Amino acid sequence: MSELNLILLGPPGAGKGTQADRLREDFGLAHISTGDMLRAQVEQGSELGRQAKSYMDAGELVPDEVIVGMITVRVAESDAGDGFLLDGFPRNESQADALGKALGGLERRLTAALLIEVPDEDLVRRLAGRRVCVKSPTHIYHVDFDPPKHEDVCDQDGARLIQRDDDREETIRRRLQVYHSQTEPLIAYYDRIGLLRRFDGRRSADEVHAHIRATVATLRLEEKL
Ligand code: ADP
Ligand code: ADP
Repeated sequence: MSELNLILLGPPGAGKGTQADRLREDFGLAHISTGDMLRAQVEQGSELGRQAKSYMDAGELVPDEVIVGMITVRVAESDAGDGFLLDGFPRNESQADALGKALGGLERRLTAALLIEVPDEDLVRRLAGRRVCVKSPTHIYHVDFDPPKHEDVCDQDGARLIQRDDDREETIRRRLQVYHSQTEPLIAYYDRIGLLRRFDGRRSADEVHAHIRATVATLRLEEKL
């Protein structure tokens, strides 16, 4: 088996989406963001989107049964067959167990869990200043740390930049609490089974990218042995 099946772990605002977009290009992986998938459902006005929206606006996790079903279908799709990069999933132990089971059923396994660590005080500023492209949610900017060339316009496709509904101070605080209580235990979970790799997310996006890329390149070599 030489596929790379990776998880990006870390608090909201750590830079998971930013790094996923780069790693997807480096290694030809399918980038699977549960947040982006849910926001697309909200946008379409589907039943799933309708159910998810109230949780998202409150900064709470969407119920596991909604998310697990969505991800189990997604990792089995053909573009994820050569490897994937999960961004925003799993977010608690029951989702992590469900992922392990789904992969086992496909005779696949995880290669690594990449943890991007950033302290809460930096995260609030990152999330409050985040702007995303209305056309492609993988085009991510920051008003101070990574501003677009023209205010509120995406450099890559000229579309408008918007602030996410849940990137408001009050919701941000709740999302950080939810991360610490429900998602942080996954660090020990993946460490126990030898899959955890840690990265200092306080560094610039370029530096974080260089570190993660080097680690993933090594993992790929090991998978080929
Ligand atoms: P996540 O997907 O983990 O929630 P994002 O990738 O959306 O995080 O990044 C959150 C915000 O922080 C965005 O505005 C992004 O431009 C900015 N950002 C990402 N990485 C860094 C970094 N290393 N240093 C400073 N700002 C960053
Ligand atoms: P961030 O990385 O900035 O926290 P995401 O885009 O990953 O944001 O998630 C936004 C919201 O979508 C979450 O606050 C939550 O309501 C919902 N969500 C995303 N992924 C999951 C998941 N795996 N389980 C439950 N809820 C999720």
